[in-house]
Amino acid sequence: METRYPRYNPLDWSASLEKYAKNAGKYSLCECNGVWITEDELKTVDEIPDQTLQRLAFTLLCLAKFQNFRNPDNHNWVNYSNGEIYSMACINTTAFKKDIKLNALKESGLIEYAKKVNNLNIHVLYLYNEGKQKLFVSDFRKLGYEWKLYKGEKYMRCAGCGILTKRKNNIQRYCKDCSDKVRKKRQKNMMKKRRKQGSVK
Ligand SMILES: [Zn+2]
Repeated sequence: METRYPRYNPLDWSASLEKYAKNAGKYSLCECNGVWITEDELKTVDEIPDQTLQRLAFTLLCLAKFQNFRNPDNHNWVNYSNGEIYSMACINTTAFKKDIKLNALKESGLIEYAKKVNNLNIHVLYLYNEGKQKLFVSDFRKLGYEWKLYKGEKYMRCAGCGILTKRKNNIQRYCKDCSDKVRKKRQKNMMKKRRKQGSVK
């Protein structure tokens, strides 16, 4: 603790640490700080001629790596629902088009499906873990935007919640949700102040 946190004071921390230690046994611990994407993997995604498919492929790549981390016997499989995958890929489309897009990746030999009927598992075929590590992905909420940011588009991490959001101007600091919260808090404080001033008079 002391090496990581210079102001560590054992008295302040003993109760919390004890609580965490007590609960630790209840859950299987899966601490994944993020995944490394290699140069060859980025190149493969970049070579896909369609930008939406690039985001989809990048998302599947990150998810396969995450699932490999959780289970060393995973061997590059992804078993999230289509809805979850497309939401993380930041792609808004109909169910029909979701299937078409995945099929396009299949046709180009980048993924294959599990053979079982009713099984939506996707096998990602472009993991090259041995290559040079190039991009570290630690936030899985907006993987499609992570890709766009990597490609040089104007995205920024929110100063409040850290989520990636489109940068509209240079003074923007928050995502929409956080900027709403900040504005409401400011208004509330202003009202409080006014009421206080009012009661003094
Ligand atoms: Zn935010």
